[in-house]
Amino acid sequence: MLCPRTGEPMKEVEIGGVKVDVSMGCGGVWFDNFELQKFDEQHESAGDELIKIMEQFHNPDVDTEAKIQCPRCESITLMRRFFSVKRHVAIDECAQCGGVWLDTGELLTIRKQYPTEEERNKAASAYIEDIFKNDPQIQAMKAEQQESLTKAKRFARMFRFICPSNYIPGDQDWGAF
Ligand SMILES: [Zn+2]
Repeated sequence: MLCPRTGEPMKEVEIGGVKVDVSMGCGGVWFDNFELQKFDEQHESAGDELIKIMEQFHNPDVDTEAKIQCPRCESITLMRRFFSVKRHVAIDECAQCGGVWLDTGELLTIRKQYPTEEERNKAASAYIEDIFKNDPQIQAMKAEQQESLTKAKRFARMFRFICPSNYIPGDQDWGAF
């Protein structure tokens, strides 16, 4: 499989029972839908090995704003599911196969900025909470059904996999997200 951003080969990595493909051109990560579903199970910070590989290939010069095609399906442009302008985070999802592409530059930055696990957990929680709490598209999702919440939880667990955080949507007293 080729990286949708750079066209370079992806490296398949199995971490904590989840198989992902890391781009050797930009450090972005592809999650197949059936692998994403494993995030519904609890995953603690098993992502250290993944982070090392992502860091190895991370290229800050790659344009993460450009629209990309699904690396699995032919001629399907990935949908930007939600996007936090403030946090520069986007999840690009395939409407056909349900796979997800994640550009990971900022998650890597958090991991580097905070040396202790406690500090990192705190920073990551604030970061992930901000994505889910303040993004207008996420706010709109609040009006939707349980399926959206399940999906948001899955995405939050995906983030947590890379950047350990205690934040999970739906567990707050201020609302579903
Ligand atoms: Zn697809």
